This record gives sequence, C-alpha cells and structure tokens, in this order.
Amino acid sequence: MTERGSDLASGGLDSGREIEHLAEQSAALEGQSPEAILAWVFERWAGQRIGLSSAFGPEGCALIHLARRVRPDVPVYTIDTGYLFAETLAVREAFRAQGADIRVVEPLVSIRAQAERHGPDLFARDPDACCEIRKVEPMRRVLDQLDVWITAIRRDQAATRAGTPILGTARRADGSLVVKVAPLVAWTRKDTWRYLLDHDVPYNPLLDAGFTSIGCEPCTARPPGDDERGGRWSGTGKTECGIHHL
Ligand code: SF4
Repeated sequence: MTERGSDLASGGLDSGREIEHLAEQSAALEGQSPEAILAWVFERWAGQRIGLSSAFGPEGCALIHLARRVRPDVPVYTIDTGYLFAETLAVREAFRAQGADIRVVEPLVSIRAQAERHGPDLFARDPDACCEIRKVEPMRRVLDQLDVWITAIRRDQAATRAGTPILGTARRADGSLVVKVAPLVAWTRKDTWRYLLDHDVPYNPLLDAGFTSIGCEPCTARPPGDDERGGRWSGTGKTECGIHHL
C-alpha cells in the first residue's frame, strides 16, 4: 500500500484525481491501528512537512504519545489563545519536559488589543468572531507550515465529526490543500482513557474534576449531561471553534 513521492508543495493534491486517490487510501486504512496509520503516513509522505496540532485534550495527549513512538521528533503545534487554563499549560510543559517538539502559536492580536477593537469579553457576545481571531487565524498560519496535518478528533465525539475520514484535506488561506490525517477517528472515549492510563501519559487534571472537553477558560464548563463536548460554549448553540472546518 506504500506509495511515496506525492509532491504536495507543487499543489498536486488540488487535482480531483489526487483527492479521489486519497479517499481510496483512506478507505484502505479503515480498521488499522493508529500506530499503523501513523507509520503509513510518515512513510507515504516522507520528506514532506508533517506535524500534529493539539490543545492537550485527552485524545491529543494520547496522539502526541503515539506519534512520538513512531517519529519522536514530530512537531506538535499548539495555539495559546491567552485564555487557556493553567492546568492545560502545565500539561503542555509536561510533554515538552519529555522532549516533545512543542511549537506554540499565538494570535496576532493580544486580548487587550482585541478588547480595544471589539469591546471586552468578545467571547461572550460573538464567540465565532473571538474563535476566528484567537484560534482559526493562528491555525491557518500553522497550515502554511505543513503539508500533512495530524489531528486527534474522534468520530463519536460529536455529530459534526461522525463522518470524519482517516485521510481528508484542509484548505490553506491561499486555497491550496493540506492532507488532514485523523488516526484516532475510530477510537471511543474509553479507548482514549485506556491508552492514557496504560502508558502513563500526562493529561489535564481537570478531566478528573468533571470536565470532559477543555478549551478556553471562559467557554468551558462541566457538561450538564452525557454529551462529551456539551460543556463547550454552553447555551450558545456553538459546537466547534472552526479549525476543523478549514
Ligand atoms: S473558545 Fe472562547 S475564549 Fe477561546 S477563542 Fe473561542 S470564543 Fe474566544
């Protein structure tokens, strides 16, 4: 199944044929373990710019650990919105202390400048606009650094993620495509926790205190019911920050 040499930098992925081929390869990877998927990806796109993004949720922590077993120096991009919990920053530093190549990306606009332009607490009035400034725009800059973006989303996290392929695409600001890889799509929450505990992986202690999905402090609460992501932007109808719509 190994096939090397696709020149993403030349924009080869933009052809319909290449995208169709990606869908075939994705289907062929169904049922394979995350380790096998990652090993295939690193081989398939050898020489290309491959990196993870993570906000240090449980799946992200598992994925960083998994990916580093396959490729110890894989870069891990993380966006510091300025609104993260201290516990999240501590997990980030725990991975860095283990030798992970953590690359922090910040919004172009400080919280103070954002308040001056848009008024205070934009997250409470227009969370989509706040996420665009503090998460989506920085992620676009991350995509400029990558040919292959590895992400930790799972299909059963939310209805919006149910159709996620193992191999898909995301679009850079200039319209060109990046391969988007989701090795954990078939995992359940239980699979995630089994991996974290079996391998003694660092994770956010807020997850032991009733939180199930952790983002920015103003927009994160304990979920009211069983919905794993129900504590994110509670009561607003918003379910995604937008980076997975790129
Ligand atoms: S999660 Fe909340 S605080 Fe964070 S960028 Fe989005 S709206 Fe702003």
